[in-house]
Amino acid sequence: MADAPHVLIVEDDADVAEAVRFELEEAGFRVTHASDGVTGLTMAREHTPELVILDLGLPDLDGAEIARRIRKTSDIPIIILTAMDALDRKVSLLEGGADDYLTKPFEPAELLARVRVQLRRNRGGESVVLGQLEINTEKRLVRYAEKEVRFSPKEFELLAFLARQPGRVYTREEIERGVWGEDLPANSNVVDVHMANIRSKLRDVDGYGVIRTVRGIGYALKGQ
Ligand code: CA
Repeated sequence: MADAPHVLIVEDDADVAEAVRFELEEAGFRVTHASDGVTGLTMAREHTPELVILDLGLPDLDGAEIARRIRKTSDIPIIILTAMDALDRKVSLLEGGADDYLTKPFEPAELLARVRVQLRRNRGGESVVLGQLEINTEKRLVRYAEKEVRFSPKEFELLAFLARQPGRVYTREEIERGVWGEDLPANSNVVDVHMANIRSKLRDVDGYGVIRTVRGIGYALKGQ
C-alpha cells in the first residue's frame, strides 16, 4: 500500500515495538522499526517517515538527543515513549522537539489516537475531519482511517459540497446546482451515479455509512 503513512518506531524493547507495530499496521500504517538510536537516526534520515515514535531509554543514544537531531533537519512529528513520570523531564522533552509523549505502560490504542492527531496537525491545509473521514480541500485529498481515497474531480467536489454542513440533508437539486451548475439535463441521474461511485470507493477502505440517503429527498454526510 504505497499511500499508507509510514511510521518509524525506535524502541529497544521488542515486545513494546511489536505491540505498537501490530496496532498501527491494523490501522493501515506502514511501520518500520529500529532497535537502537543510531539505526533509528539513519532510518529517519533515509526512509523519510511521516512520524517517529521514539523510546527515551535506548541502549546507545538518549531518545531526547535523537529527537533534537531529527528536529535539526525535519519537522516530522515525534512522539516520545517514556518510562519516566517526572514533569520537568516531559517539559524539557517537548521543548527539545518532541510533539507529544506517552508514559509506559500505555495502551497501543491510545498511541494510535495520538499518532492520528499528530499526522493531521502536520499535514496542514484546510481539513475537515469527520470521525475517520478527512477532507483536505486545499490539497484536494481525502483520507478514510488514514488511507487515501482517490476521487474524480466531480466526486471530490460533491463530497466537499456535502462537507460544508455535515449532517445537513442536501436535495438532489441543491447538489446539482452546487456542483454542476445549471447545465444539467432535466431528470439527470448524475448525482446518484456519482454518489454510488463515492460510496463504493469509501467501502473499499471500510468506510460504511459515511453518506446517508434520505429517500426521495437527497443526501447528507454523516456529521460527527
Ligand atoms: Ca527502552
